[in-house]
Amino acid sequence: MLQDKDRIFTNIYGMHDRTLKGAQMRGHWDGTDKIIKKGRDWIIDQMKSSGLRGRGGAGFPTGLKWSFMPKESDGRPSYLVVNADESEPGTCKDREIMRHDPHTLIEGCLIASFAMQANACYIYIRGEYIREKEALQAAIDEAYDAGLVGKNAAKSGWDFDIYLHHGAGAYICGEETALLESLEGKKGMPRMKPPFPAGAGLYGCPTTVNNVESIAVVPTILRRGPEWFAGFGRPNNAGTKLFAISGHVNNPCVVEEEMSISFEELIEKHCGGIRGGWDNLKAVIPGGSSVPCVRGEHMKDAIMDFDYLRGELGSGLGTAAVIVMDESTDIIKAIWRLSKFYKHESCGQCTPCREGTGWMMRVMDRLVRGEAEVEEIDMLFDVTKQVEGHTICALGDAAAWPIQGLIKNFRDEIEDRIRHKRSPSPTRVAAE
Ligand code: SF4
Repeated sequence: MLQDKDRIFTNIYGMHDRTLKGAQMRGHWDGTDKIIKKGRDWIIDQMKSSGLRGRGGAGFPTGLKWSFMPKESDGRPSYLVVNADESEPGTCKDREIMRHDPHTLIEGCLIASFAMQANACYIYIRGEYIREKEALQAAIDEAYDAGLVGKNAAKSGWDFDIYLHHGAGAYICGEETALLESLEGKKGMPRMKPPFPAGAGLYGCPTTVNNVESIAVVPTILRRGPEWFAGFGRPNNAGTKLFAISGHVNNPCVVEEEMSISFEELIEKHCGGIRGGWDNLKAVIPGGSSVPCVRGEHMKDAIMDFDYLRGELGSGLGTAAVIVMDESTDIIKAIWRLSKFYKHESCGQCTPCREGTGWMMRVMDRLVRGEAEVEEIDMLFDVTKQVEGHTICALGDAAAWPIQGLIKNFRDEIEDRIRHKRSPSPTRVAAE
Protein backbone atom coordinates (compact mmCIF):
# COMPACT_ATOMS: atom_id res chain seq x y z
CA MET A 1 0.00 0.00 0.00
CA LEU A 2 1.28 3.46 -0.90
CA GLN A 3 2.69 5.40 2.05
CA ASP A 4 1.78 9.02 2.68
CA LYS A 5 5.37 10.14 2.06
CA ASP A 6 5.12 8.83 -1.51
CA ARG A 7 1.90 10.54 -2.46
CA ILE A 8 2.19 13.09 -5.25
CA PHE A 9 -1.23 14.58 -4.53
CA THR A 10 -1.15 15.70 -0.93
CA ASN A 11 -4.39 17.66 -0.97
CA ILE A 12 -6.64 15.46 -3.04
CA TYR A 13 -9.43 15.65 -0.46
CA GLY A 14 -9.21 19.41 -0.03
CA MET A 15 -8.32 19.16 3.65
CA HIS A 16 -5.49 21.68 3.35
CA ASP A 17 -4.85 25.08 1.85
CA ARG A 18 -5.14 24.92 -1.95
CA THR A 19 -3.70 28.39 -2.53
CA LEU A 20 -0.16 29.02 -3.70
CA LYS A 21 1.04 29.44 -0.13
CA GLY A 22 -0.37 26.07 0.87
CA ALA A 23 0.98 24.40 -2.27
CA GLN A 24 4.46 25.78 -1.62
CA MET A 25 4.35 24.53 1.95
CA ARG A 26 3.65 21.07 0.58
CA GLY A 27 6.72 21.30 -1.67
CA HIS A 28 5.28 22.42 -4.98
CA TRP A 29 7.06 25.12 -7.03
CA ASP A 30 10.29 24.17 -5.25
CA GLY A 31 13.30 24.63 -7.53
CA THR A 32 11.21 24.77 -10.69
CA ASP A 33 13.77 27.08 -12.31
CA LYS A 34 16.58 24.60 -11.61
CA ILE A 35 14.61 21.80 -13.26
CA ILE A 36 14.02 23.92 -16.35
CA LYS A 37 17.64 25.01 -16.53
CA LYS A 38 18.69 21.37 -16.86
CA GLY A 39 17.32 21.56 -20.37
CA ARG A 40 14.80 20.03 -22.64
CA ASP A 41 16.64 16.77 -23.39
CA TRP A 42 17.29 16.09 -19.72
CA ILE A 43 13.60 16.52 -18.87
CA ILE A 44 12.43 14.27 -21.70
CA ASP A 45 15.01 11.60 -20.81
CA GLN A 46 13.94 11.67 -17.18
CA MET A 47 10.30 11.31 -18.19
CA LYS A 48 11.14 8.39 -20.44
CA SER A 49 13.08 6.66 -17.65
CA SER A 50 10.24 7.18 -15.19
CA GLY A 51 8.05 4.90 -17.30
CA LEU A 52 5.06 7.23 -16.98
CA ARG A 53 2.26 6.18 -19.31
CA GLY A 54 -0.49 8.66 -20.16
CA ARG A 55 -3.22 8.79 -17.53
CA GLY A 56 -6.05 9.76 -19.89
CA GLY A 57 -6.90 6.21 -20.89
CA ALA A 58 -4.68 5.12 -23.77
CA GLY A 59 -1.55 4.62 -21.66
CA PHE A 60 0.91 5.88 -24.28
CA PRO A 61 4.41 6.60 -22.83
CA THR A 62 4.47 10.30 -21.94
CA GLY A 63 8.20 10.98 -22.47
CA LEU A 64 8.07 9.35 -25.89
CA LYS A 65 5.06 11.46 -26.86
CA TRP A 66 6.94 14.61 -25.91
CA SER A 67 9.92 13.55 -27.99
CA PHE A 68 7.76 13.62 -31.14
CA MET A 69 7.65 17.41 -30.95
CA PRO A 70 10.05 19.18 -33.32
CA LYS A 71 13.45 20.00 -31.81
CA GLU A 72 13.89 23.03 -34.04
CA SER A 73 11.02 25.33 -34.91
CA ASP A 74 10.25 25.84 -38.60
CA GLY A 75 8.76 29.19 -37.69
CA ARG A 76 5.51 27.82 -36.29
CA PRO A 77 4.96 27.98 -32.52
CA SER A 78 4.50 24.80 -30.50
CA TYR A 79 1.66 24.27 -28.04
CA LEU A 80 0.86 22.14 -25.04
CA VAL A 81 -2.83 21.41 -24.67
CA VAL A 82 -4.08 19.83 -21.47
CA ASN A 83 -7.14 17.66 -21.80
CA ALA A 84 -9.29 18.46 -18.77
CA ASP A 85 -12.50 17.43 -20.51
CA GLU A 86 -12.95 14.55 -18.09
CA SER A 87 -16.22 13.10 -19.37
CA GLU A 88 -15.84 9.33 -19.40
CA PRO A 89 -18.64 7.98 -17.19
CA GLY A 90 -17.24 6.89 -13.84
CA THR A 91 -14.16 9.10 -14.15
CA CYS A 92 -13.75 11.86 -11.58
CA LYS A 93 -10.05 11.98 -10.73
CA ASP A 94 -8.83 15.07 -12.63
CA ARG A 95 -11.49 17.20 -10.98
CA GLU A 96 -9.92 16.47 -7.58
CA ILE A 97 -6.57 17.71 -8.87
CA MET A 98 -8.06 20.87 -10.37
CA ARG A 99 -10.21 21.87 -7.45
CA HIS A 100 -7.95 20.86 -4.58
CA ASP A 101 -4.37 20.70 -5.86
CA PRO A 102 -4.34 23.02 -8.89
CA HIS A 103 -0.73 24.13 -8.53
CA THR A 104 0.52 20.60 -9.26
CA LEU A 105 -1.03 21.01 -12.69
CA ILE A 106 0.14 24.56 -13.37
CA GLU A 107 3.73 23.80 -12.41
CA GLY A 108 3.56 20.68 -14.61
CA CYS A 109 2.27 22.77 -17.50
CA LEU A 110 5.25 25.10 -17.29
CA ILE A 111 7.82 22.31 -17.20
CA ALA A 112 6.15 20.23 -19.90
CA SER A 113 5.70 23.26 -22.15
CA PHE A 114 9.34 24.15 -21.79
CA ALA A 115 10.31 20.56 -22.65
CA MET A 116 8.31 20.89 -25.85
CA GLN A 117 9.47 24.44 -26.55
CA ALA A 118 5.93 25.74 -26.18
CA ASN A 119 5.48 29.27 -24.91
CA ALA A 120 1.75 28.80 -24.53
CA CYS A 121 -0.43 26.17 -22.95
CA TYR A 122 -4.18 25.75 -23.17
CA ILE A 123 -6.16 23.82 -20.60
CA TYR A 124 -9.49 22.66 -22.04
CA ILE A 125 -11.85 22.02 -19.13
CA ARG A 126 -15.25 20.38 -19.49
CA GLY A 127 -18.32 22.58 -19.44
CA GLU A 128 -19.82 21.06 -16.31
CA TYR A 129 -16.70 21.73 -14.21
CA ILE A 130 -17.67 25.23 -13.14
CA ARG A 131 -16.25 25.26 -9.60
CA GLU A 132 -13.13 23.46 -10.82
CA LYS A 133 -12.66 26.14 -13.44
CA GLU A 134 -12.94 28.83 -10.78
CA ALA A 135 -10.40 27.11 -8.55
CA LEU A 136 -7.98 26.56 -11.40
CA GLN A 137 -8.32 30.11 -12.72
CA ALA A 138 -7.72 31.49 -9.23
CA ALA A 139 -4.54 29.40 -9.02
CA ILE A 140 -3.40 30.60 -12.48
CA ASP A 141 -3.96 34.20 -11.40
CA GLU A 142 -1.92 33.60 -8.25
CA ALA A 143 0.88 32.06 -10.30
CA TYR A 144 0.92 35.11 -12.62
CA ASP A 145 0.99 37.49 -9.64
CA ALA A 146 3.89 35.60 -8.11
CA GLY A 147 5.86 35.58 -11.39
CA LEU A 148 5.72 31.78 -11.61
CA VAL A 149 4.13 31.99 -15.03
CA GLY A 150 4.31 34.84 -17.55
CA LYS A 151 7.55 36.47 -18.70
CA ASN A 152 10.65 34.73 -17.37
CA ALA A 153 8.40 32.22 -15.62
CA ALA A 154 9.65 31.24 -12.16
CA LYS A 155 12.95 33.00 -13.08
CA SER A 156 13.71 30.17 -15.47
CA GLY A 157 14.36 32.43 -18.45
CA TRP A 158 11.38 30.88 -20.29
CA ASP A 159 8.35 33.01 -21.26
CA PHE A 160 5.17 31.10 -20.69
CA ASP A 161 1.47 31.87 -20.87
CA ILE A 162 -1.33 29.62 -19.75
CA TYR A 163 -4.99 29.88 -20.78
CA LEU A 164 -8.02 28.10 -19.39
CA HIS A 165 -10.73 27.34 -21.94
CA HIS A 166 -14.19 26.24 -20.86
CA GLY A 167 -15.87 23.62 -23.07
CA ALA A 168 -19.59 23.31 -23.61
CA GLY A 169 -20.16 19.82 -22.27
CA ALA A 170 -19.73 17.49 -25.24
CA TYR A 171 -18.12 14.13 -24.49
CA ILE A 172 -16.49 13.96 -27.91
CA CYS A 173 -14.38 17.02 -27.13
CA GLY A 174 -12.33 14.74 -24.87
CA GLU A 175 -11.00 13.14 -28.06
CA GLU A 176 -7.79 15.03 -28.69
CA THR A 177 -8.41 16.24 -32.23
CA ALA A 178 -12.06 17.15 -31.53
CA LEU A 179 -10.73 19.09 -28.56
CA LEU A 180 -8.38 21.01 -30.85
CA GLU A 181 -11.22 21.76 -33.27
CA SER A 182 -13.34 23.03 -30.40
CA LEU A 183 -10.48 25.12 -29.07
CA GLU A 184 -10.18 26.71 -32.50
CA GLY A 185 -13.83 27.71 -32.25
CA LYS A 186 -15.24 25.03 -34.54
CA LYS A 187 -17.61 22.13 -33.98
CA GLY A 188 -16.01 19.46 -31.83
CA MET A 189 -15.52 16.83 -34.52
CA PRO A 190 -12.48 14.52 -34.57
CA ARG A 191 -9.93 14.90 -37.34
CA MET A 192 -8.51 12.13 -39.46
CA LYS A 193 -5.03 11.05 -38.38
CA PRO A 194 -2.40 11.46 -39.77
CA PRO A 195 -1.38 14.18 -39.54
CA PHE A 196 -0.91 13.70 -35.81
CA PRO A 197 -1.04 16.73 -33.53
CA ALA A 198 2.75 16.72 -33.04
CA GLY A 199 3.04 17.57 -36.74
CA ALA A 200 -0.10 19.66 -37.23
CA GLY A 201 -2.27 20.25 -34.18
CA LEU A 202 -3.70 23.46 -32.79
CA TYR A 203 -3.93 26.11 -35.55
CA GLY A 204 -1.90 23.71 -37.71
CA CYS A 205 1.09 23.95 -35.37
CA PRO A 206 3.01 21.23 -33.50
CA THR A 207 0.92 20.30 -30.44
CA THR A 208 0.96 17.74 -27.69
CA VAL A 209 -2.27 16.90 -25.93
CA ASN A 210 -1.85 15.41 -22.45
CA ASN A 211 -4.24 14.44 -19.68
CA VAL A 212 -4.37 16.51 -16.45
CA GLU A 213 -2.94 13.77 -14.22
CA SER A 214 -0.12 13.02 -16.68
CA ILE A 215 1.04 16.63 -16.47
CA ALA A 216 0.38 17.15 -12.76
CA VAL A 217 2.73 14.31 -11.75
CA VAL A 218 5.66 15.66 -13.79
CA PRO A 219 7.21 18.12 -11.27
CA THR A 220 7.29 15.53 -8.47
CA ILE A 221 8.81 12.90 -10.76
CA LEU A 222 11.57 15.32 -11.76
CA ARG A 223 12.19 16.41 -8.17
CA ARG A 224 12.29 12.90 -6.72
CA GLY A 225 13.83 11.17 -9.70
CA PRO A 226 12.54 8.72 -12.28
CA GLU A 227 13.84 5.72 -10.29
CA TRP A 228 11.58 6.64 -7.42
CA PHE A 229 8.52 6.75 -9.67
CA ALA A 230 9.52 3.63 -11.59
CA GLY A 231 9.85 1.83 -8.25
CA PHE A 232 6.08 1.54 -7.99
CA GLY A 233 4.10 -0.99 -9.96
CA ARG A 234 5.19 -3.79 -12.25
CA PRO A 235 7.58 -3.22 -15.18
CA ASN A 236 5.91 -1.26 -17.98
CA ASN A 237 3.19 -0.16 -15.53
CA ALA A 238 5.13 2.26 -13.38
CA GLY A 239 4.18 4.80 -10.81
CA THR A 240 1.38 5.92 -8.60
CA LYS A 241 -2.11 6.40 -9.97
CA LEU A 242 -5.37 8.01 -9.01
CA PHE A 243 -8.13 5.41 -8.86
CA ALA A 244 -11.77 6.55 -8.82
CA ILE A 245 -13.95 3.81 -7.37
CA SER A 246 -17.71 4.14 -7.63
CA GLY A 247 -20.76 1.92 -7.38
CA HIS A 248 -21.52 -0.83 -4.90
CA VAL A 249 -18.65 -0.49 -2.48
CA ASN A 250 -19.15 0.69 1.07
CA ASN A 251 -17.04 3.79 0.63
CA PRO A 252 -16.70 5.09 -2.95
CA CYS A 253 -13.63 7.31 -3.26
CA VAL A 254 -10.79 8.71 -5.32
CA VAL A 255 -7.44 7.53 -3.99
CA GLU A 256 -3.82 7.67 -5.07
CA GLU A 257 -2.33 4.21 -4.96
CA GLU A 258 0.55 2.24 -6.31
CA MET A 259 0.02 0.96 -9.83
CA SER A 260 -0.43 -2.84 -9.97
CA ILE A 261 -2.19 -2.94 -6.61
CA SER A 262 -4.56 -5.89 -6.44
CA PHE A 263 -8.24 -5.16 -6.88
CA GLU A 264 -8.99 -6.83 -3.56
CA GLU A 265 -6.52 -4.65 -1.66
CA LEU A 266 -7.78 -1.50 -3.37
CA ILE A 267 -11.36 -2.25 -2.40
CA GLU A 268 -10.66 -3.52 1.12
CA LYS A 269 -8.17 -0.81 2.13
CA HIS A 270 -9.90 2.21 0.67
CA CYS A 271 -13.53 1.39 -0.01
CA GLY A 272 -14.52 -0.63 3.05
CA GLY A 273 -15.20 -3.72 0.93
CA ILE A 274 -17.94 -4.71 -1.48
CA ARG A 275 -21.50 -3.93 -0.43
CA GLY A 276 -22.86 -7.22 0.95
CA GLY A 277 -19.44 -8.93 0.78
CA TRP A 278 -17.34 -10.45 -1.98
CA ASP A 279 -19.89 -13.14 -2.78
CA ASN A 280 -22.25 -10.33 -3.72
CA LEU A 281 -19.90 -8.94 -6.40
CA LYS A 282 -21.39 -9.36 -9.86
CA ALA A 283 -19.31 -7.33 -12.30
CA VAL A 284 -16.69 -4.61 -12.54
CA ILE A 285 -15.92 -2.10 -15.25
CA PRO A 286 -12.29 -1.45 -14.33
CA GLY A 287 -11.36 1.55 -16.45
CA GLY A 288 -14.22 3.89 -17.22
CA SER A 289 -17.35 3.04 -19.17
CA SER A 290 -15.69 2.30 -22.51
CA VAL A 291 -13.76 -0.80 -21.44
CA PRO A 292 -15.44 -4.23 -21.34
CA CYS A 293 -16.93 -5.34 -18.03
CA VAL A 294 -15.44 -8.29 -16.16
CA ARG A 295 -17.23 -10.91 -14.07
CA GLY A 296 -16.84 -10.41 -10.34
CA GLU A 297 -15.12 -13.76 -9.71
CA HIS A 298 -12.40 -12.87 -12.22
CA MET A 299 -11.76 -9.48 -10.65
CA LYS A 300 -10.99 -10.52 -7.10
CA ASP A 301 -7.39 -11.49 -7.87
CA ALA A 302 -6.94 -8.94 -10.63
CA ILE A 303 -3.91 -6.66 -10.75
CA MET A 304 -4.87 -3.09 -11.47
CA ASP A 305 -2.57 -2.08 -14.28
CA PHE A 306 -2.56 -1.65 -18.06
CA ASP A 307 -1.01 -4.98 -19.01
CA TYR A 308 -2.87 -7.29 -16.65
CA LEU A 309 -6.33 -5.95 -17.32
CA ARG A 310 -5.84 -6.02 -21.05
CA GLY A 311 -3.76 -9.20 -21.37
CA GLU A 312 -5.40 -11.42 -18.77
CA LEU A 313 -8.96 -10.15 -18.63
CA GLY A 314 -9.55 -8.64 -22.05
CA SER A 315 -10.54 -5.34 -20.50
CA GLY A 316 -8.40 -2.27 -19.73
CA LEU A 317 -7.17 0.14 -17.07
CA GLY A 318 -8.41 3.13 -19.09
CA THR A 319 -8.75 6.07 -16.76
CA ALA A 320 -8.75 3.77 -13.69
CA ALA A 321 -12.37 4.66 -13.02
CA VAL A 322 -13.52 1.46 -11.37
CA ILE A 323 -17.28 0.89 -11.51
CA VAL A 324 -18.35 -1.86 -9.12
CA MET A 325 -21.68 -3.63 -9.52
CA ASP A 326 -23.20 -6.07 -7.05
CA GLU A 327 -25.79 -8.78 -7.59
CA SER A 328 -28.63 -6.28 -7.41
CA THR A 329 -27.51 -4.85 -10.75
CA ASP A 330 -29.41 -5.50 -13.94
CA ILE A 331 -26.22 -5.79 -15.98
CA ILE A 332 -28.05 -5.76 -19.32
CA LYS A 333 -29.74 -2.51 -18.40
CA ALA A 334 -26.47 -1.05 -17.11
CA ILE A 335 -24.76 -1.69 -20.44
CA TRP A 336 -27.83 -0.47 -22.34
CA ARG A 337 -27.47 2.81 -20.46
CA LEU A 338 -23.91 3.12 -21.71
CA SER A 339 -25.08 2.36 -25.26
CA LYS A 340 -27.57 5.18 -24.93
CA PHE A 341 -24.80 7.49 -23.78
CA TYR A 342 -22.50 6.69 -26.70
CA LYS A 343 -25.32 7.02 -29.19
CA HIS A 344 -26.10 10.44 -27.78
CA GLU A 345 -22.47 11.56 -27.85
CA SER A 346 -21.56 10.31 -31.34
CA CYS A 347 -20.64 13.34 -33.46
CA GLY A 348 -22.25 11.66 -36.47
CA GLN A 349 -19.32 12.19 -38.78
CA CYS A 350 -18.74 8.56 -39.80
CA THR A 351 -21.41 6.10 -40.79
CA PRO A 352 -20.45 3.02 -38.71
CA CYS A 353 -20.55 5.10 -35.55
CA ARG A 354 -23.53 7.31 -36.38
CA GLU A 355 -25.72 4.41 -37.52
CA GLY A 356 -24.08 1.66 -35.48
CA THR A 357 -24.45 3.32 -32.08
CA GLY A 358 -28.18 3.83 -32.68
CA TRP A 359 -28.61 0.32 -34.01
CA MET A 360 -26.76 -1.21 -31.06
CA MET A 361 -28.74 0.84 -28.59
CA ARG A 362 -32.06 -0.21 -30.08
CA VAL A 363 -31.15 -3.90 -29.93
CA MET A 364 -29.92 -3.43 -26.36
CA ASP A 365 -33.21 -1.77 -25.60
CA ARG A 366 -35.05 -4.94 -26.60
CA LEU A 367 -32.57 -7.20 -24.83
CA VAL A 368 -33.25 -5.38 -21.57
CA ARG A 369 -36.90 -6.33 -21.94
CA GLY A 370 -36.13 -9.80 -23.31
CA GLU A 371 -38.05 -8.96 -26.47
CA ALA A 372 -35.58 -10.41 -28.94
CA GLU A 373 -34.53 -13.65 -30.56
CA VAL A 374 -31.56 -15.54 -29.14
CA GLU A 375 -29.91 -15.37 -32.58
CA GLU A 376 -29.86 -11.59 -32.31
CA ILE A 377 -27.19 -11.81 -29.65
CA ASP A 378 -24.66 -13.04 -32.23
CA MET A 379 -25.96 -10.52 -34.71
CA LEU A 380 -25.39 -7.73 -32.20
CA PHE A 381 -21.89 -8.99 -31.50
CA ASP A 382 -21.22 -9.01 -35.21
CA VAL A 383 -22.35 -5.40 -35.52
CA THR A 384 -20.02 -4.33 -32.69
CA LYS A 385 -17.17 -5.88 -34.69
CA GLN A 386 -18.19 -3.91 -37.76
CA VAL A 387 -18.11 -0.68 -35.79
CA GLU A 388 -14.89 -1.42 -33.86
CA GLY A 389 -11.82 -0.19 -35.69
CA HIS A 390 -13.80 1.23 -38.60
CA THR A 391 -14.32 4.77 -37.42
CA ILE A 392 -12.37 8.04 -37.39
CA CYS A 393 -12.00 8.16 -33.63
CA ALA A 394 -12.18 5.77 -30.68
CA LEU A 395 -15.80 6.54 -29.82
CA GLY A 396 -16.83 3.72 -32.12
CA ASP A 397 -14.69 1.28 -30.12
CA ALA A 398 -15.96 2.78 -26.87
CA ALA A 399 -19.52 2.03 -27.93
CA ALA A 400 -18.69 -1.49 -29.10
CA TRP A 401 -16.56 -2.79 -26.22
CA PRO A 402 -19.10 -2.61 -23.36
CA ILE A 403 -21.55 -4.69 -25.42
CA GLN A 404 -18.84 -7.18 -26.35
CA GLY A 405 -17.97 -7.49 -22.65
CA LEU A 406 -21.62 -8.06 -21.79
CA ILE A 407 -22.09 -10.78 -24.39
CA LYS A 408 -18.83 -12.54 -23.54
CA ASN A 409 -19.42 -12.51 -19.81
CA PHE A 410 -23.18 -12.51 -19.31
CA ARG A 411 -24.61 -14.25 -22.34
CA ASP A 412 -26.46 -16.71 -20.09
CA GLU A 413 -28.31 -13.85 -18.46
CA ILE A 414 -29.37 -12.35 -21.80
CA GLU A 415 -30.59 -15.73 -23.05
CA ASP A 416 -32.44 -16.40 -19.79
CA ARG A 417 -34.28 -13.14 -20.11
CA ILE A 418 -35.37 -13.87 -23.66
CA ARG A 419 -36.53 -17.38 -22.75
CA HIS A 420 -38.27 -16.16 -19.66
CA LYS A 421 -40.16 -13.58 -21.66
CA ARG A 422 -41.36 -16.30 -24.02
CA SER A 423 -42.53 -18.68 -21.30
CA PRO A 424 -43.03 -16.68 -18.12
CA SER A 425 -43.27 -18.81 -15.00
CA PRO A 426 -46.70 -18.86 -13.28
CA THR A 427 -45.29 -17.29 -10.13
CA ARG A 428 -43.69 -14.44 -12.07
CA VAL A 429 -46.94 -13.78 -13.91
CA ALA A 430 -48.79 -13.72 -10.59
CA ALA A 431 -46.26 -11.30 -9.14
CA GLU A 432 -46.51 -9.02 -12.13
FE1 SF4 B 1 -17.71 11.07 -34.72
FE2 SF4 B 1 -18.23 8.58 -33.91
FE3 SF4 B 1 -16.82 8.98 -36.09
FE4 SF4 B 1 -15.77 9.57 -33.69
S1 SF4 B 1 -16.31 7.55 -34.40
S2 SF4 B 1 -15.65 10.78 -35.54
S3 SF4 B 1 -17.65 10.29 -32.64
S4 SF4 B 1 -18.98 9.58 -35.77
